[in-house]
Amino acid sequence: MKIALAVHGGAGTLAPELMTPVREKAYRAALELSLRRGYAVLKEGGTAIDAVEAAIRVLEDSPHFNAGKGSVFNADGQHEMDASLMSGMDLRAGAVAGVQNVKNPIGLARRVMDHSSHVLISGLGAFEFAHKQKVELEDDQYFFDQFRYDQWKETAGTDVYRLDHSEKEKKFGTVGAVALDANGHLAAGTSTGGMTNKKWQRIGDSPIIGCGTYANDASCAVSCTGHGESFIRAVAAHDVHAIMAYKGLSLQEAVRVVVHEKLPPLDGDGGLIAVDRDGNIVLDFNCSGMYRGHVGADGEFHTAIFR
Ligand code: ASP
Repeated sequence: MKIALAVHGGAGTLAPELMTPVREKAYRAALELSLRRGYAVLKEGGTAIDAVEAAIRVLEDSPHFNAGKGSVFNADGQHEMDASLMSGMDLRAGAVAGVQNVKNPIGLARRVMDHSSHVLISGLGAFEFAHKQKVELEDDQYFFDQFRYDQWKETAGTDVYRLDHSEKEKKFGTVGAVALDANGHLAAGTSTGGMTNKKWQRIGDSPIIGCGTYANDASCAVSCTGHGESFIRAVAAHDVHAIMAYKGLSLQEAVRVVVHEKLPPLDGDGGLIAVDRDGNIVLDFNCSGMYRGHVGADGEFHTAIFR
């Protein structure tokens, strides 16, 4: 049986001139480490959902991405994180929105799936659940990143809210993973700090099953990154599944329709990663780049940023 894994660290308008060799190396190293962790799980016969969680934890722990450590600042100068995951075998799912001080939001989403009767919990309630579940917590300082702070300071006190970008660089540093395990089961997960200077406890697509994350053994597993409002309106992740299931298109075709036909009219800048039950992997985006990586049956690790 084939195994396959893909990860992303966000998409957007990445300015190649800002990408120094040192920075590029650091991003690629983080992506590769994430792939290695997830792939080790699959290699040992582990489940797709465990591989997805393991891969995302690495990216949450890296300050380079807008998830976990290094999450963007909201309008109050705080970090509010969203995450979700889904198992394609039984359509079970777990998600958290607007959580603070949780080291690995994806781990908390997993606990919602495994140890609660809910799919999506939020805010202080989610924090209380985190406490009960004894997940690792960190103080605000742990999540601080100077780059994100400077980014926030440019808009703090205004009504402008932004995706994870600066004037020169517009990128979405959300992270995600999709996997196929040796038993033929699929899983997907996504984790994010959301938008810089977000207000009113804004929540994007990442923790919403069907929008930022979806997995179904009948078709594929999908994790999205981009302008969350548009991905919600497009029900993007589920749409890839629906096009495959109802229209019989291939994964590659279904992803192309969503990323290049359905999202652009909704201002849906971004991209997604997906894997189908045959182990085909598609990493596609409608902007200049997407931090991404994949490993298939041959065990070769591939990472890329620009086209
Ligand atoms: N989709 C995320 C959101 O809107 C942002 C991202 O992908 O970076 O919260």
